[in-house]
Amino acid sequence: MAFASAFGDEARLLRMKETARGLEHGSMLYKSTGRCFRPFYVMCLSRTILIVGFLFVVWQSYNNCKAQQELCEMTRNSLEAIKAASIACKNINEPVHVPIPTGAKTCETIAEYKTMGKPSDGPIIYAITPTFTRPVQKAELTRLSQTFLLVPNFHWIVVEDSPKKTPLVVNLLASSGLTYTHINAPTPPHYKLGKNDPNWKKPRGVEQRNAALRWIRNNLNESHNGVIYFADDDNTYSRQLFQEITKVKRVGVWPVGLVGGLMVERPICEKMTNKVTGFNAVWKPDRPFPIDMAGFGINLKVILEKKDALFAYDIQSGFQESEILKQVTRRDELEGLADGCSKVYVWHTRTQPPVLNTEQILTKRGKSSNVGIEV
Ligand code: UDP
Ligand code: MN
Repeated sequence: MAFASAFGDEARLLRMKETARGLEHGSMLYKSTGRCFRPFYVMCLSRTILIVGFLFVVWQSYNNCKAQQELCEMTRNSLEAIKAASIACKNINEPVHVPIPTGAKTCETIAEYKTMGKPSDGPIIYAITPTFTRPVQKAELTRLSQTFLLVPNFHWIVVEDSPKKTPLVVNLLASSGLTYTHINAPTPPHYKLGKNDPNWKKPRGVEQRNAALRWIRNNLNESHNGVIYFADDDNTYSRQLFQEITKVKRVGVWPVGLVGGLMVERPICEKMTNKVTGFNAVWKPDRPFPIDMAGFGINLKVILEKKDALFAYDIQSGFQESEILKQVTRRDELEGLADGCSKVYVWHTRTQPPVLNTEQILTKRGKSSNVGIEV
């Protein structure tokens, strides 16, 4: 029993020792395996970060290198282009031209520059411009107004095709620096062009030009020295045109570029006498006066004499010019100007309507690009 108990004690002791050793051993194991497995995810994460970071640095420097190469390539190309251009283009060394030249034959030029836009003894040019609201309107009127600033003795009669004067035109005129009269005269609805109608379908500018003629007859008299000119808002005008307009004694005519299917549609004139012997028009050459609205000027005294002369609605397309001219003159009375009708100082340009399909989508979403901005 004692043996058994002693043996049992010894066995328990041995078991305890082993347990203790085992624990010791176990904890060592735990420690050593702990280094490998406990922060397993931490180690993997840091290794991953390291690898990703390394790859990122490699990728960045590759990109930098590529960008630098592209920059070098571009610079080399543009330098070569400049070199090629300077070899090909002899004008590269052209001098800077100052506005008032000082050479010998410049007296006339200097005199012209000095009078540019300033009052002179000549007649006042009353330019009548019908205009209507559309995306290009401000651009058109800006181009015109800044040309007209170069013209001495100029009075701009702007007639809006609208029931009310619009703030855009009010502001543009107020800041134009020009002498002007602002009228509005809406085209009657049944004469107004539909959105998809071709231009020729209905007469344009009739109501507005007539309103301006009425204003002239109500506000000016024989004591005024003036010439009337119909200046549509989309044409292109050289300031030289206005020098010709000042020469109009009764009714003057001159060539117009880019109209009637021709590079130039013009009267045929005798240089010495200014007499008009014919016209070169090919489009509707049977018109009584086969010329464009931009191709004639009428002295104020004629407009006052022929006090009922107006434009009309119910006439053939392309006959507006003939309609007014036949009421105030005859072919054989016309004064051919612009160096015997040999120079083009006005062009019947037309502005292409801009593509605004993206703007329409934005407007539907209430996100127009021009909210609070006048364009
Ligand atoms: N115009 C207008 N309302 C319109 C269409 C045109 O007041 O509904 C004006 C336009 O701004 C221009 C003149 O009338 O000053 C002549 O129009 P357009 O240039 O279209 O005629 P075209 O060049 O075809 O003769
Ligand atoms: Mn036009």
